[in-house]
Amino acid sequence: MRIILLGPPGAGKGTQAKFISEKFGIPHISTGDIFMRNITEGTELGKKAKSFIDQGLLVPDEVTIDLVMNRLDQADVEEGYLLDGFPRTAYQGEVLCRMIRKGGQVLDAALLIDVPSSYIRERMPGRRICRFCGASYHLQFNPPEEVGLCDHCGHELAERRDDHAEAVEERLKVYEEQTMPLIEFFEKKKLLLRIDGTKEIEAVTREIFEKLSTLENHE
Ligand code: ADP
Ligand code: ADP
Ligand code: ZN
Repeated sequence: MRIILLGPPGAGKGTQAKFISEKFGIPHISTGDIFMRNITEGTELGKKAKSFIDQGLLVPDEVTIDLVMNRLDQADVEEGYLLDGFPRTAYQGEVLCRMIRKGGQVLDAALLIDVPSSYIRERMPGRRICRFCGASYHLQFNPPEEVGLCDHCGHELAERRDDHAEAVEERLKVYEEQTMPLIEFFEKKKLLLRIDGTKEIEAVTREIFEKLSTLENHE
Protein backbone atom coordinates (compact mmCIF):
# COMPACT_ATOMS: atom_id res chain seq x y z
CA MET A 1 0.00 0.00 0.00
CA ARG A 2 1.28 3.46 -0.93
CA ILE A 3 -0.29 6.32 0.95
CA ILE A 4 0.49 9.99 1.34
CA LEU A 5 -0.64 12.25 4.17
CA LEU A 6 -1.66 15.83 3.50
CA GLY A 7 -2.73 18.47 5.97
CA PRO A 8 -1.70 21.74 7.58
CA PRO A 9 1.13 21.90 10.12
CA GLY A 10 -0.10 20.39 13.36
CA ALA A 11 -3.04 18.56 11.74
CA GLY A 12 -2.03 15.30 13.39
CA LYS A 13 -0.19 13.69 10.46
CA GLY A 14 2.67 12.35 12.56
CA THR A 15 0.32 11.16 15.31
CA GLN A 16 -1.87 9.23 12.87
CA ALA A 17 1.06 8.02 10.76
CA LYS A 18 2.27 5.85 13.65
CA PHE A 19 -1.10 4.03 13.80
CA ILE A 20 -1.42 3.60 10.02
CA SER A 21 2.13 2.37 9.63
CA GLU A 22 1.61 -0.23 12.39
CA LYS A 23 -1.73 -1.46 11.09
CA PHE A 24 -0.62 -1.87 7.49
CA GLY A 25 2.98 -2.82 8.20
CA ILE A 26 4.41 -0.12 5.97
CA PRO A 27 7.39 2.15 6.75
CA HIS A 28 6.53 5.67 7.92
CA ILE A 29 8.62 8.22 6.07
CA SER A 30 8.41 11.74 7.47
CA THR A 31 10.45 14.37 5.66
CA GLY A 32 10.02 16.68 8.67
CA ASP A 33 11.47 14.04 11.03
CA ILE A 34 14.39 13.36 8.68
CA PHE A 35 15.20 17.08 8.50
CA MET A 36 14.90 17.50 12.28
CA ARG A 37 17.18 14.54 12.93
CA ASN A 38 19.77 15.91 10.53
CA ILE A 39 19.64 19.31 12.22
CA THR A 40 20.18 17.72 15.64
CA GLU A 41 23.10 15.70 14.28
CA GLY A 42 24.57 18.72 12.45
CA THR A 43 24.86 16.98 9.06
CA GLU A 44 25.27 18.76 5.70
CA LEU A 45 21.58 18.17 4.94
CA GLY A 46 20.68 19.61 8.36
CA LYS A 47 22.73 22.73 7.66
CA LYS A 48 21.00 23.22 4.30
CA ALA A 49 17.53 22.79 5.78
CA LYS A 50 17.83 24.64 9.09
CA SER A 51 17.37 28.28 8.09
CA PHE A 52 14.30 27.49 5.97
CA ILE A 53 12.68 25.40 8.70
CA ASP A 54 13.37 27.98 11.41
CA GLN A 55 11.62 30.64 9.36
CA GLY A 56 8.62 28.40 8.69
CA LEU A 57 9.52 28.14 5.00
CA LEU A 58 9.74 24.99 2.89
CA VAL A 59 13.11 23.44 2.21
CA PRO A 60 13.80 23.90 -1.54
CA ASP A 61 12.33 21.26 -3.86
CA GLU A 62 15.68 20.01 -5.18
CA VAL A 63 16.96 19.19 -1.68
CA THR A 64 13.70 17.58 -0.55
CA ILE A 65 13.03 15.59 -3.72
CA ASP A 66 16.55 14.22 -3.73
CA LEU A 67 16.16 13.08 -0.16
CA VAL A 68 12.83 11.33 -0.79
CA MET A 69 13.92 9.68 -4.05
CA ASN A 70 16.95 8.21 -2.26
CA ARG A 71 14.78 6.95 0.56
CA LEU A 72 12.29 5.36 -1.86
CA ASP A 73 15.14 3.52 -3.53
CA GLN A 74 15.70 1.37 -0.46
CA ALA A 75 14.55 -2.22 -0.24
CA ASP A 76 12.14 -1.87 2.70
CA VAL A 77 9.67 0.27 0.73
CA GLU A 78 9.17 -2.10 -2.18
CA GLU A 79 5.82 -3.32 -0.84
CA GLY A 80 4.62 0.10 0.18
CA TYR A 81 5.10 3.14 2.37
CA LEU A 82 3.40 5.99 4.14
CA LEU A 83 4.70 9.42 3.18
CA ASP A 84 4.09 12.02 5.87
CA GLY A 85 4.73 15.62 4.82
CA PHE A 86 5.70 14.83 1.23
CA PRO A 87 4.65 15.99 -1.31
CA ARG A 88 4.14 19.56 -0.15
CA THR A 89 4.37 21.42 -3.46
CA ALA A 90 2.76 20.82 -6.86
CA TYR A 91 6.16 20.00 -8.32
CA GLN A 92 6.91 17.42 -5.60
CA GLY A 93 3.51 15.85 -6.36
CA GLU A 94 4.27 15.58 -10.07
CA VAL A 95 7.71 14.08 -9.48
CA LEU A 96 6.33 11.50 -7.03
CA CYS A 97 3.49 10.44 -9.36
CA ARG A 98 5.91 10.16 -12.27
CA MET A 99 8.26 8.01 -10.21
CA ILE A 100 5.46 5.71 -9.06
CA ARG A 101 4.18 5.32 -12.62
CA LYS A 102 7.65 4.60 -13.98
CA GLY A 103 8.06 1.84 -11.41
CA GLY A 104 4.80 0.24 -12.61
CA GLN A 105 3.27 0.92 -9.20
CA VAL A 106 0.15 2.76 -8.01
CA LEU A 107 -0.58 5.29 -5.33
CA ASP A 108 -3.51 4.01 -3.25
CA ALA A 109 -4.63 7.16 -1.49
CA ALA A 110 -3.92 10.73 -0.49
CA LEU A 111 -5.32 11.20 3.00
CA LEU A 112 -6.13 14.82 3.81
CA ILE A 113 -6.33 15.45 7.55
CA ASP A 114 -8.42 18.58 7.46
CA VAL A 115 -8.14 21.01 10.37
CA PRO A 116 -9.04 24.73 10.25
CA SER A 117 -6.33 27.26 11.11
CA SER A 118 -8.09 28.32 14.33
CA TYR A 119 -7.61 24.80 15.78
CA ILE A 120 -3.98 24.75 14.65
CA ARG A 121 -3.17 28.02 16.43
CA GLU A 122 -4.67 26.57 19.58
CA ARG A 123 -2.85 23.22 19.32
CA MET A 124 0.69 24.29 18.47
CA PRO A 125 1.83 25.84 21.76
CA GLY A 126 1.10 22.54 23.57
CA ARG A 127 2.98 20.25 21.20
CA ARG A 128 5.95 18.41 22.68
CA ILE A 129 8.14 16.06 20.67
CA CYS A 130 10.71 13.39 21.29
CA ARG A 131 13.79 14.26 19.26
CA PHE A 132 14.99 10.70 19.63
CA CYS A 133 12.09 8.71 18.09
CA GLY A 134 9.94 11.46 16.56
CA ALA A 135 6.87 10.78 18.73
CA SER A 136 4.57 13.74 19.18
CA TYR A 137 2.61 14.61 22.34
CA HIS A 138 0.34 17.36 23.56
CA LEU A 139 0.29 18.83 27.06
CA GLN A 140 -3.51 18.76 27.08
CA PHE A 141 -4.77 16.50 24.28
CA ASN A 142 -2.19 13.72 24.32
CA PRO A 143 0.01 13.87 27.41
CA PRO A 144 2.76 11.28 27.99
CA GLU A 145 2.33 8.86 30.88
CA GLU A 146 5.19 10.50 32.78
CA VAL A 147 5.44 14.28 32.62
CA GLY A 148 8.13 15.40 30.16
CA LEU A 149 9.25 11.90 29.09
CA CYS A 150 8.62 9.89 25.93
CA ASP A 151 6.39 6.81 26.43
CA HIS A 152 8.29 4.88 23.75
CA CYS A 153 11.92 5.53 24.59
CA GLY A 154 12.03 7.50 27.84
CA HIS A 155 13.89 10.48 26.36
CA GLU A 156 13.09 13.98 27.45
CA LEU A 157 10.41 15.83 25.49
CA ALA A 158 11.04 19.22 23.94
CA GLU A 159 9.25 22.03 22.20
CA ARG A 160 9.82 22.27 18.50
CA ARG A 161 11.93 25.25 17.47
CA ASP A 162 9.44 26.21 14.75
CA ASP A 163 6.25 25.98 16.84
CA HIS A 164 6.30 29.60 18.07
CA ALA A 165 3.45 31.84 16.91
CA GLU A 166 5.37 33.71 14.21
CA ALA A 167 6.65 30.57 12.44
CA VAL A 168 3.22 28.94 12.74
CA GLU A 169 1.61 31.87 10.89
CA GLU A 170 4.23 31.59 8.16
CA ARG A 171 3.72 27.83 7.88
CA LEU A 172 -0.06 28.25 7.61
CA LYS A 173 0.47 30.77 4.80
CA VAL A 174 2.94 28.47 3.04
CA TYR A 175 0.47 25.59 3.39
CA GLU A 176 -2.32 27.60 1.80
CA GLU A 177 -0.18 28.88 -1.07
CA GLN A 178 2.06 25.93 -1.87
CA THR A 179 0.47 22.77 -0.51
CA MET A 180 -3.27 23.30 -0.89
CA PRO A 181 -3.08 23.09 -4.71
CA LEU A 182 -2.18 19.41 -4.17
CA ILE A 183 -5.67 18.79 -2.75
CA GLU A 184 -7.24 19.49 -6.12
CA PHE A 185 -4.44 17.62 -7.89
CA PHE A 186 -5.22 14.39 -5.98
CA GLU A 187 -8.97 14.99 -6.10
CA LYS A 188 -8.79 14.99 -9.90
CA LYS A 189 -6.94 11.70 -9.76
CA LYS A 190 -9.74 10.33 -7.53
CA LEU A 191 -7.24 9.55 -4.80
CA LEU A 192 -8.26 12.08 -2.16
CA LEU A 193 -9.78 10.86 1.11
CA ARG A 194 -10.90 13.70 3.36
CA ILE A 195 -10.66 13.11 7.10
CA ASP A 196 -12.11 15.40 9.77
CA GLY A 197 -9.02 16.11 11.87
CA THR A 198 -10.83 18.21 14.51
CA LYS A 199 -12.14 15.18 16.38
CA GLU A 200 -10.28 13.36 19.16
CA ILE A 201 -7.19 11.41 18.14
CA GLU A 202 -8.90 7.99 18.41
CA ALA A 203 -11.92 9.15 16.41
CA VAL A 204 -9.64 10.43 13.67
CA THR A 205 -7.82 7.09 13.56
CA ARG A 206 -11.18 5.27 13.26
CA GLU A 207 -12.25 7.45 10.35
CA ILE A 208 -8.93 6.86 8.58
CA PHE A 209 -9.16 3.06 9.00
CA GLU A 210 -12.78 3.04 7.81
CA LYS A 211 -11.96 5.04 4.69
CA LEU A 212 -8.89 2.95 3.92
CA SER A 213 -10.83 -0.30 4.30
CA THR A 214 -13.46 0.72 1.73
CA LEU A 215 -10.57 1.38 -0.59
CA GLU A 216 -9.17 -2.12 -0.10
CA ASN A 217 -12.59 -3.62 -0.87
CA HIS A 218 -12.67 -1.84 -4.20
CA GLU A 219 -9.55 -3.55 -5.43
P1 ADP B 1 1.65 17.14 12.22
O1 ADP B 1 2.55 15.95 12.05
O2 ADP B 1 0.53 17.17 11.23
O3 ADP B 1 2.39 18.42 12.27
P2 ADP B 1 1.27 16.17 14.97
O4 ADP B 1 0.87 14.76 14.82
O5 ADP B 1 2.63 16.47 15.46
O6 ADP B 1 0.94 17.00 13.63
O7 ADP B 1 0.19 16.86 15.95
C1 ADP B 1 0.29 18.24 16.29
C2 ADP B 1 -0.07 18.43 17.77
O8 ADP B 1 -1.47 18.21 17.96
C3 ADP B 1 0.62 17.44 18.71
O9 ADP B 1 0.83 18.10 19.93
C4 ADP B 1 -0.41 16.31 18.87
O10 ADP B 1 -0.29 15.63 20.10
C5 ADP B 1 -1.72 17.08 18.79
N1 ADP B 1 -2.81 16.34 18.13
C6 ADP B 1 -2.74 15.46 17.12
N2 ADP B 1 -3.97 15.03 16.76
C7 ADP B 1 -4.85 15.68 17.56
C8 ADP B 1 -6.29 15.66 17.67
N3 ADP B 1 -7.06 14.90 16.89
N4 ADP B 1 -6.84 16.46 18.62
C9 ADP B 1 -6.07 17.25 19.41
N5 ADP B 1 -4.73 17.30 19.35
C10 ADP B 1 -4.11 16.53 18.44
P1 ADP C 1 4.55 20.04 10.41
O1 ADP C 1 4.51 19.35 11.71
O2 ADP C 1 4.53 21.52 10.53
O3 ADP C 1 3.59 19.51 9.41
P2 ADP C 1 6.94 18.67 9.48
O4 ADP C 1 7.47 18.07 10.72
O5 ADP C 1 6.29 17.78 8.50
O6 ADP C 1 6.00 19.88 9.84
O7 ADP C 1 8.08 19.47 8.74
C1 ADP C 1 8.87 20.44 9.41
C2 ADP C 1 9.50 21.37 8.41
O8 ADP C 1 10.35 20.62 7.53
C3 ADP C 1 8.53 22.11 7.51
O9 ADP C 1 8.02 23.28 8.09
C4 ADP C 1 9.42 22.40 6.30
O10 ADP C 1 10.27 23.49 6.54
C5 ADP C 1 10.28 21.16 6.21
N1 ADP C 1 9.68 20.15 5.31
C6 ADP C 1 9.09 18.98 5.65
N2 ADP C 1 8.62 18.34 4.56
C7 ADP C 1 8.91 19.13 3.50
C8 ADP C 1 8.66 19.04 2.10
N3 ADP C 1 8.03 17.98 1.55
N4 ADP C 1 9.10 20.05 1.31
C9 ADP C 1 9.77 21.10 1.82
N5 ADP C 1 10.01 21.27 3.13
C10 ADP C 1 9.60 20.29 3.98
ZN1 ZN D 1 10.82 8.80 22.03
